[in-house]
Amino acid sequence: MSRPPRHLADLELAERREAVAELGERAFRADQLSRHYFARYTDSPDEMTDLPAGVRTALVGELLPRLLTSEREQTCDDGATRKMLWRLHDGALVESVLMKYTDRVTMCVSSQAGCGMGCPFCATGQAGLTRNLSTAEIVAQVVAGERAIQADNPEGNISPTSTSRVSNVVFMGMGEPLANYKNVIGAVRRLSDPVPAGLGISQRSLTVSTVGLVPAIQRLTQEKLTARLAVSLHAPDDEARDELVPVNRRWKVAEVLAAAWDYAAATGRRISIEYALIRDINDQPWRADLLGELLSGHLVHVNLIPLNPTPGSKWTASRPGVQEEFVRRIADHGVAVTVRDTRGREIDGACGQLAAAVTGRAVGPARRSGTPLLPLA
Ligand code: SAH
Ligand code: SF4
Repeated sequence: MSRPPRHLADLELAERREAVAELGERAFRADQLSRHYFARYTDSPDEMTDLPAGVRTALVGELLPRLLTSEREQTCDDGATRKMLWRLHDGALVESVLMKYTDRVTMCVSSQAGCGMGCPFCATGQAGLTRNLSTAEIVAQVVAGERAIQADNPEGNISPTSTSRVSNVVFMGMGEPLANYKNVIGAVRRLSDPVPAGLGISQRSLTVSTVGLVPAIQRLTQEKLTARLAVSLHAPDDEARDELVPVNRRWKVAEVLAAAWDYAAATGRRISIEYALIRDINDQPWRADLLGELLSGHLVHVNLIPLNPTPGSKWTASRPGVQEEFVRRIADHGVAVTVRDTRGREIDGACGQLAAAVTGRAVGPARRSGTPLLPLA
């Protein structure tokens, strides 16, 4: 485990200007470099024709080191879903998934190599934590997604359709984002800062997903962000949640939900409750009722995810009838609920989760869409 090299996406624009000045160059070169990276998605000196040739290589070497090397790439859903496996500078591996819909493009990013939270149904959790990703390593995954979209459209027909750029980012890849707090907040800012400071993606289109680290949720509430918060609940009672989400032994369901409601109150954003339905483990009708009772009257939406079994797991997804009953009972409490379709299931064996949990409304002919059961408020 070692520190990744410094990259301009780790720095605020003012810090980039200082870094460029320290290299003996004029400060505005920092803006030029930033535009290449955040607007043209390039870090190749050859393409930086507005910079003197002699200067390019030095600046790129210092501020745009290559952070991700493609290890493997797989597509499915007729090319609409693309899973990318990256090798980091120290050999650690992380995944991201690009999902194209008719009205948006969602990028699912990793925030850590591995994860230390140990949820027994999650493939990433089984391997433990390797290390935190830097802000730039997180941002680079989205820039790689932008490049992939560009490569699919080589004519450069930049039609103003939403699928010409990444429109949404979900922190639902490997890792627990709030366990890498500083770098994840840095990434949220860099993704949403306007060009040339950042990528200029609306903060409202970013989703931070957490297992329920209560102090970190409280800290997040103070940041004055407008990003969406997803809470991976998976059980409405402490008995089941203690087993499914070991961190629940530290912060109980009631504390996690209280912190989530404070976030909703401070931001006006609806909380997304993630719930992987596991056959005979957390899918009983009484648990649906309890969940409905806990959530009723709050600014919330439930995202049910059919469990994607990990290799060797004793658990599997709920029976269809059971799943429908679960949905109906939550909806009967007046709580908005959707069943998330599992994009890319055929290619996510290695991780078992990446494409399974996507927020946002499900649309588009390229997939079997999720089922909105209540009008989304
Ligand atoms: N660590 C964060 C974010 C990454 S996991 C979190 O847990 O929220 C993203 C989502 O995928 C979480 O809701 C997680 O519970 C879910 N997930 C993990 N493994 C899964 C599996 N095998 N099947 C279905 N969903 C899974
Ligand atoms: Fe970590 Fe999330 Fe997997 Fe739990 S579900 S082990 S928190 S990545």
